[in-house]
Order: sequence, then C-alpha cells, then structure tokens
Amino acid sequence: MIPSQKSINELKEIAKREFGVEWTDGEASDAAYNLLNYFDILMKWAGDDIKTHLRLEKEPDGFAIKGEQLITCGLCGKLSPAKECWKDKHGLKCRLCQKAVRDGIVPTSVCRNKDRWFSFETLKEKFGIHPATAKSLVRKGNLKARIIPNDLGNPYFTLFLREENYEFLKIEKDAPQSALEEYDQQVAEWAEDYKKKIAEKSAK
Ligand SMILES: [Zn+2]
Repeated sequence: MIPSQKSINELKEIAKREFGVEWTDGEASDAAYNLLNYFDILMKWAGDDIKTHLRLEKEPDGFAIKGEQLITCGLCGKLSPAKECWKDKHGLKCRLCQKAVRDGIVPTSVCRNKDRWFSFETLKEKFGIHPATAKSLVRKGNLKARIIPNDLGNPYFTLFLREENYEFLKIEKDAPQSALEEYDQQVAEWAEDYKKKIAEKSAK
C-alpha cells in the first residue's frame, strides 16, 4: 500500500506537534509506508483471526461453520463435518463438545488449554494410569471425571480436570497460560488496534 500525499502531510503535522521534529516528505513517507504496511501485513497474516474476533464481539454466542470439509474439534480432537461445528471465543468445537460446554458439563477454561485437563490417553502417557485403572479410580472416587455424552446419553468423551484431580495426581492445581490463550490475547489487542485505526480514519 502506498501512502497518499494527504497522509504524508498529516504525519508531518503529527511529528511536529507531538514530537517537535520537522520531517521531510521522504521521512514522513517512509513512516507512513511502514505504518500502513504494518497493518497490511498484520491483516493478511492474522486477518482471519482478527475478523473472527470482531465478529464474535457482535455474536457472543458464536456461529456455525460452513463447508463440506472435516474439522478437528479443539476439545476432544475428533473429526467432525464442518457444518456440525461451532466457533465461539473458546475456540472451534464439535457439536457434542459445544453442547457440553454450553450445559456446563465442562468449564470454558479447559477449551484453549490442554494442560488444564487430561484424557484417558494423557492419564496413561503422563501418569502411567491405564484407562481400565482410571475407570476403577473414578468408581472409587479417587479420580473425578467429566463425561461428555453423545445423543443417546452414552459417554462420548471423558475429561479429568486438573483442578479436580491435582491432589490425587500430585501435581500443581493451576496450569500456566497456554500458547493458544496467549495468541487469543494478542489477537484481541490487534483487533482493538484495528478498531482504533478505523475510528481514526472515519473521524477524519
Ligand atoms: Zn469435540
């Protein structure tokens, strides 16, 4: 994107007013060019995520996904047809996981942080607890499971929340912020920057 003479003049005025420097046309042009390209690159790179963030501000309950492809659920990790998936600020989920989150069977805090919960697989991987043993520990009340049901009410996917099982597993109660959570925060900041830029532009 090439800055217009108008934005170059504006930047020269801002530089003089705010920083007391006299920019040449060339210096102001470079600054404008860098600024425009920063947002240009940002929008290309993270544009879809920023757009989704802005859309979710208007549609806080989320929206259905279009398309014929299969999508990996951000929670259970299973493949589902895109049109059965749902996107909200807690990520992309299959229909059953989305319903479980909405119904409060699993807390939203686990959706973007895989260290806040364990599956049968990760219990085995990380703690050497075989699924059959895990089931018996649930029956005895040593482990606490959150079970996402399928349409028939049978178990579809089981989560063991860290906050409910940390004592038995002898681990920390809290998991650090995940890379996904950090990225979400970054996207939120970019979206705010973007909104500010748009507001400044339309105010002129
Ligand atoms: Zn799922």
